[in-house]
Parts: sequence; C-alpha cells; structure tokens
Amino acid sequence: VLQTMKESANLPAKTKDGHDVLLFGNIGKADDAAKARELGAEGIGLFRTEFLYMERDELPNEEVQYEAYKACAEAMDGRPVIIRTMDIGGDKELKCLALPKEMNPFLGYRAIRICLAEPDMFKTQLKALLRAGVHGQVHIMYPMISSLDEVRRANALLQEAKDELAAAGVAFNGDTPVGIMVETPAAAMIADILAKEVDFFSIGTNDLCQYTLAVDRMNERIGQLYEPLHPAVLRLIKQVIDASHKEGKLTGMCGEMAGDPMATMILLGLGLDEFSMSATAIPMIKAVLRSVTVDECRHMAAKALTLGSAKEIAAYVTRIMTEKG
Ligand code: PEP
Ligand code: MG
Repeated sequence: VLQTMKESANLPAKTKDGHDVLLFGNIGKADDAAKARELGAEGIGLFRTEFLYMERDELPNEEVQYEAYKACAEAMDGRPVIIRTMDIGGDKELKCLALPKEMNPFLGYRAIRICLAEPDMFKTQLKALLRAGVHGQVHIMYPMISSLDEVRRANALLQEAKDELAAAGVAFNGDTPVGIMVETPAAAMIADILAKEVDFFSIGTNDLCQYTLAVDRMNERIGQLYEPLHPAVLRLIKQVIDASHKEGKLTGMCGEMAGDPMATMILLGLGLDEFSMSATAIPMIKAVLRSVTVDECRHMAAKALTLGSAKEIAAYVTRIMTEKG
C-alpha cells in the first residue's frame, strides 16, 4: 500500500482528458506539511492555526507565529500555502483568552467575530502572516465570514498591519493574497458581492452543511441529517463557484466533502478549482480524478442538481461509479 501511495504521489492530478486539478492538504501544525507533500499535496489549502492558541497559557506572540507560518511555507517549497486566521469558538476553553459560556457556541462569539473585537490580537497574527509571505507563497484566509462589512473591517486591519510593519522597517509581502472561507449560507448567498472583495474562496463544507441544514455537526443523534450531498448544499456550492469564476477568481474547498470520493465527480463538474483534504485522502481522490473526464463530470453535476434528495443523489453517484468500475 505504501508503495502505491508513493507512486500516486508522483502522478499528476489530471483528469483523463488532461484538465489539471489542484489537490492540496489540510494541516493543523507546520510539521504536518512535509507529510502532506509526501502524499502528493501540491499546496496547503487549509492550515488551521488554532493549535497556536490552544496549547499555551498566553496569546502566541508575533515571533512564535511567524516561525510556525514560515516553517510551513518553507516545507512547501514555493507552493501555495493558505493559512487561516484564528478560528476559535465559544465551545473551546482557551487558557490564553477568556471566552464567554454561551447557549449556542456555534452561532456565537467565534473566529472572525473575536478577531474583529480584539484588533491587537488579530493584527499580531496578520503581521506574522505578512512576514512569513517573504518565505513562500503564503495566502491569508478569514474564517466564518457572514457579511461584506466583516471582510472590509478585516482588510482594514490588514492594511494597518502592513503600515505598522513598513514603519518599523520589517520585511513582509505586501501582495499576500487574501481570501475567505465560505462556510455560512449568508456568505454563499452573497458570493457575487464578496468575490469582488477578495482574491479567492474556500468552501468550508463542515460548517456550511451544519448551518444550511440546521444540523449540529457534533450531534450524533441527528447525524443522518448531516448530508453534504443535500440539494440545498449543492446549489449553494454551485452558486459560490459560479460567482467566483465570474470575477476570475478561484474557488477551493477545504471541508471534509473535498476528500469524499462520492462527491469528487460532482464537485469537479461544478467547476471546483482546488480540493483540500486530510493528506491521507489525496491518493484516493487523485485516483478518482484520473479516471474521469470533465465532460462526464459536468453532465453528472447537472443531473445531480435536478434530483430532490441526498439519497437520490448518492444512489445516482454510486450507479455511475459502479458502471465505470
Ligand atoms: C469547515 O467548516 O468546513 C472547515 C474546513 O473548517 P473547520 O472544520 O475547521 O470548522
Ligand atoms: Mg469551519
């Protein structure tokens, strides 16, 4: 198995008809980047930076963060690295930051909402990211965006971070691309507006499913209602991809759905540009991609969008994949 994984890592992520697809890895620590490379990741589509905040008693300073982001950029050797700014929610206890106990933590004070309320903390992270951009192709990504105003406020703080670094004579990459996670139905619905404001999108299906379907992603009792292939989710995904392409921007996906072989053909057919997943899923998704053509995926996506439920869509996908062998 290891041998075939290694062989797969060296094969191009290309469909049968020669269409290139970006297969990236999701990581939670800079050290994981090398492992993702070995398994064939051509970039990092999601670096979750939460561990930096969760593992210590005090907020991580700029230097600690800079070293972690720089290590990741260097490990990927010039390939794209999308680093997500802090995404901590009211459900996690943090020693370094007092967060309120809430009735509905997933609908509460989390991620970009905390960052906009704590501009000094946020700017520390942004400065570390801008500086790391000198050592590779670092991209900044904001999580949990639900309005245009949040993007603009975050970008205003990013500009302040740049001005402060420049004034201090510190080296940084002023052209660092900035994108957002599309993981709230609100962001998906106004994707056309948000696409004008950012350089790229990455769809976070874990939260997008939870919020669209009103199904707690952690609640096992209603786990059967958590359906990424639900037509409502697929329609939102299509809308997001179409909106980004209209503005000439790329859309990736870094939720679990990107690493689910049942979804690969539909997502490719909808035009998804980049798939980011836990590195162990890369060889399998690559094998699916290499066995299909873009035309057949487009046809499949169009048909799937006419079906009324996740079960029908899953049955349709299973039938097509079985026919293909
Ligand atoms: C997502 O919501 O799909 C996502 C990738 O973010 P997280 O799982 O970290 O919430
Ligand atoms: Mg999320």
